[in-house]
Amino acid sequence: MLYSSLVEIYEKMEATTKKLEKRDILAAFFKNAKGSLYKAVHLSMGIVPTGEAEIGVAQKMMIRVICQTYGIEEGSIMKKFKDLGDLGSVAEYFAEHRRQKSFSKKELTIDMVFDNIRLLPKIEGKGSVEKKISLVSELLSSASPKESLYIVRTVLSNMRIGVAHGVVRDAIAFAFNKDPKEVEHAWHLTSDFGRVAEMAKEGDLRAHVQLFRPMNVMLAERAPNLEEALRTFENPAVEVKLDGFRAIIHKKGGRIKIFSRRLEDVTVQFPDLLSWAKDCLRAEECIVEGEVLAVDPKTRQPRPFQHLSRRIQRKYEIEKMVKEIPIRIDLFELVHLDGSDYMKEPLRRRWSELKKIVQEKPGHFQLIDHIETKDLKEAEKFYRHALAIGEEGVVIKNLDAHYQPGRRVGFWLKVKPIMEPLDLVVVGAEWSEGKRAKTLGSLILAARDGKKFLETGRMASGLIEKKSKENPDLPTLEELTKILKPLVIEEQGKIVKIKPQVVVEVGYEEIQKSPKYPTGYALRFPRLLRMRIDEKKPEDANTVKDIEKLFSQQKRFKR
Ligand code: AMP
Repeated sequence: MLYSSLVEIYEKMEATTKKLEKRDILAAFFKNAKGSLYKAVHLSMGIVPTGEAEIGVAQKMMIRVICQTYGIEEGSIMKKFKDLGDLGSVAEYFAEHRRQKSFSKKELTIDMVFDNIRLLPKIEGKGSVEKKISLVSELLSSASPKESLYIVRTVLSNMRIGVAHGVVRDAIAFAFNKDPKEVEHAWHLTSDFGRVAEMAKEGDLRAHVQLFRPMNVMLAERAPNLEEALRTFENPAVEVKLDGFRAIIHKKGGRIKIFSRRLEDVTVQFPDLLSWAKDCLRAEECIVEGEVLAVDPKTRQPRPFQHLSRRIQRKYEIEKMVKEIPIRIDLFELVHLDGSDYMKEPLRRRWSELKKIVQEKPGHFQLIDHIETKDLKEAEKFYRHALAIGEEGVVIKNLDAHYQPGRRVGFWLKVKPIMEPLDLVVVGAEWSEGKRAKTLGSLILAARDGKKFLETGRMASGLIEKKSKENPDLPTLEELTKILKPLVIEEQGKIVKIKPQVVVEVGYEEIQKSPKYPTGYALRFPRLLRMRIDEKKPEDANTVKDIEKLFSQQKRFKR
């Protein structure tokens, strides 16, 4: 198939903004593509898939390609580049005004363009720049002005004509008489429209997840709160939501690969995870998923995400990084096991099979915290604990649902505090009971309203008996009592009134309207994040107006 026929498509696509027209143009082209369908689909999107490798031709190198192909000085090219703003158009211009007509002109085919570009990332080592330049130049020498424009843009991965995902999906469906939903599903499993088009043409879109090919993973939707999330499913599981990096591990015999949620191969960055997967996955062949976290080397408890991101990005001195930034993985999914696709199985089955094949290595390679309950109290306790140990929240999962790759279909619901923390003033407290009777327990919090402080809730979460390793700045109940006792101005039974002086940073899940408090609002699941005694005065605390504003933002934010 001639490359010029693809150029016609580009021109037609550029000439219309209507999605349906774009779909019809592409569909007709795909139908005609015959043996080059795979390449035609990719090139129509301005892409040549090169796996993890990059094409490796940047603007500077492309300028040298243009110099060499048309025998033009760099200065003139730069001048044109300034005028036109795009190297594709520069190549088009010089192709039109070519001094020497090319004698070796052969008609370019889609295969030739695709194959030459696909070779580029494979060229490495000495003389690689020259080799790359001549490979692209070879294409340009045979190209018409318009062809040059699109070849340059494709090599630079900057096509400038937007061919949206949905248009390609619908064009494949339309060309081969398939349901766009099926096409979309197959894309999630393969993340490759070229292959999907071939499958659609052959009439079988029943894509399966494939070992060692990345897939789009299942995603979670946001739930407004725990109660509603639990109510959504007949049989819910509650899992801790960890703030880490999703890893998808593919294993067959001794071969293992690790992919990210963005379909990148990250095997090289995680030799530790690779070796645990070898030892701890008791299956000949499987695909499992989990959340990778950076951890403290001694306690194996999570450290903030920024540590982990250094690990993900680093591609050299890996062994040093493994020592500096130890990790652990908490596994939560199984989508393939010993030749069987588990995506159609309910979560209940996937989780039970996962448990069977994972030989845990605590603190390194382990199963995620998972309970199965519909009881709000039990789930709340689990949720509070997750927040107290610094995790993001929980994910409520439907135990009866299958695995839906790449979509937020509502089989998983995430519940996490969505709001930015508030700085509130402690205006009261309550003496504890029993053994802890000498310490103040829950705190009464207030927001500022002009010069007054209006109560807006009580907080007991985050008030701890013993020093926390994860958050050593958090005071113990005893320390808190020492700070607050001198400020007590009145006592009524177990309740004390406190002079408004101490500001605390409070996290919570959501703001609710409440007639119980003079601000008219209450916080759901408030918890102490830190003391702000040295940084903030009561007059710096958040106001009732701030709470009102956050409340209305939150309503818009909920999905
Ligand atoms: P979000 O990025 O907020 O949509 O949340 C989805 C991400 O949470 C997933 O891609 C995972 O990386 C992460 N995650 C953490 N814990 C879990 C869990 N228990 N189940 C599923 N995903 C989890």
